[in-house]
Amino acid sequence: MDSSAAARPHPLEIIDVIEEAADAVSLVFAHPAEGRLDYSPGQFLTLRVPGMPEDGTRWAPRCYSLSSTPGLDEHLKVTVKRTTGGYASNWLCDNAEPGMILDSLPPSGRFTVRGAADRLVLLAAGSGITPVMSILRATLASSATPVTLVYANRDRDAVIFHAAIAALADEHGDRLSVTHWLESDRGLPDSAGLASLLPTPTGTTSAYVCGPAAFMDCAAAAAAAIGIDEGRIHRESFSSLTGDPFATHAPEPGADEASAPPDGAATVTVDLHGDTTVLTWPREHVLLDALLDRGLDAPYVCREGNCGGCAFTLRSGEVHMIVNDTLDDHELGNGIRLACQSLPRTDEVAVEFH
Ligand SMILES: Cc1cc2nc3c(=O)[nH]c(=O)nc-3n(C[C@H](O)[C@H](O)[C@H](O)COP(=O)(O)OP(=O)(O)OC[C@H]3O[C@@H](n4cnc5c(N)ncnc54)[C@H](O)[C@@H]3O)c2cc1C
Repeated sequence: MDSSAAARPHPLEIIDVIEEAADAVSLVFAHPAEGRLDYSPGQFLTLRVPGMPEDGTRWAPRCYSLSSTPGLDEHLKVTVKRTTGGYASNWLCDNAEPGMILDSLPPSGRFTVRGAADRLVLLAAGSGITPVMSILRATLASSATPVTLVYANRDRDAVIFHAAIAALADEHGDRLSVTHWLESDRGLPDSAGLASLLPTPTGTTSAYVCGPAAFMDCAAAAAAAIGIDEGRIHRESFSSLTGDPFATHAPEPGADEASAPPDGAATVTVDLHGDTTVLTWPREHVLLDALLDRGLDAPYVCREGNCGGCAFTLRSGEVHMIVNDTLDDHELGNGIRLACQSLPRTDEVAVEFH
């Protein structure tokens, strides 16, 4: 199934709800009736969580990483941990039940394993284990790559997937090393302590880091301290969306190629879903808006430069990104850019969405 059309929601039926830990549940979804959703380990769904009747909000859009692994799991699974004072996480933990249908945008995100890595270092805290678990299981099942997992939690009761991680460590003891960092025993994680648990890296060792911002800072510092190349340290930030990616974006009336281009507009050649379109790109509009204004079904989720859901490859020309909180130097070097943040820098630009 075409999973790149991020603006197109799929109704997903919950077929199971699993208590994973003190404050976390997994929601298991059947694939949509119209076809299975393709995804890569580490990607996320964007769910439309029913809104609070008291404030009249119709829904809260929230991203949840897939903890299931493509090729290994029949169904889609996300794992939600309660956020203190948060709306959607608590609503899902309290109300989700089999038979409930939630709309979801197609899987998205760039926190995935790309390219060869001769060793993986996985550093997770709390709900940050969710995409990491998918990456871990996929790696163990499909390669001989050695993996080091360090997983931080408040205490033993807060550990998500405890039994599943123990089973993996038993099965792959020759190449999987697991350390649980429990605050109740060791205090808060710090970079020196985390670094002491990590292996000596080789040239292509890659680190994947997910958890609260403070944890990610010291985990990334630990990975850098043992010598992992900065371009191979990947982070996934968990934050709530402020915009609504489910809102439909009406094309601008009369915005077609027959209209006169605005003064000084750039021209962009876009490869999207296998079709090539040439259109004018007003200089003050980000690429995503220029595409949606023309009625093109470009992918996006957060529209804030955070999630990577609108990433494209720059084939020629130059763009300026206003915000980039997700792409690393390696990706930038390979021409990856964010459509929700890109303004044209040259008169002619060519881009390709995957
Ligand atoms: C790519 C991605 C993947 C993610 N994957 C996961 C996952 O696998 N599992 C998971 O559990 N989460 C995940 N998240 C986080 C998830 O999307 C939500 O952000 C999280 O569940 C909290 O949402 P919430 O509605 O419960 O909290 P919110 O209602 O958004 O509140 C968040 C915090 O802000 C505070 N707050 C809310 N409103 C106000 C206000 N007006 N003033 C001051 N403070 C306020 C709340 O008290 C709370 O502490 C992911 C996020 C992203 C971007």
